[in-house]
Amino acid sequence: MQDPLVERLAWRALLRALAAGTVHLSLTADDGDERFSGTYLRNGKPIAVTAGSLEDVILEMAGVPRRKKCGGSCGKEKPLSQYSKNESMPDGHCRACRDCETARLRRHKARKRARGCAPAA
Ligand SMILES: [Zn+2]
Repeated sequence: MQDPLVERLAWRALLRALAAGTVHLSLTADDGDERFSGTYLRNGKPIAVTAGSLEDVILEMAGVPRRKKCGGSCGKEKPLSQYSKNESMPDGHCRACRDCETARLRRHKARKRARGCAPAA
């Protein structure tokens, strides 16, 4: 949301939706960190948005896929849907993407198998 006009229109649409009750936003103070969560209606069904910064929550409601940089070996920026859920993380998703996690677990299992600590799969 860099364009001030787009940002103003987005805020106006959000305020209208909040007033109409089709969007619900809540603030959860988490150790001093401001985290927002929300629900919105899509085709009459309430959709919950993963907790995050206010901008992240609003962008997700607007249908803009949230992205983050993988903390695993690939280091690529990917949409949040490419990360497994992890409630202990601030953004509710794992540090590394699914591909990196799968590769890491495969290496881990192979190492365990080589040491004779796991049954051969
Ligand atoms: Zn990755």
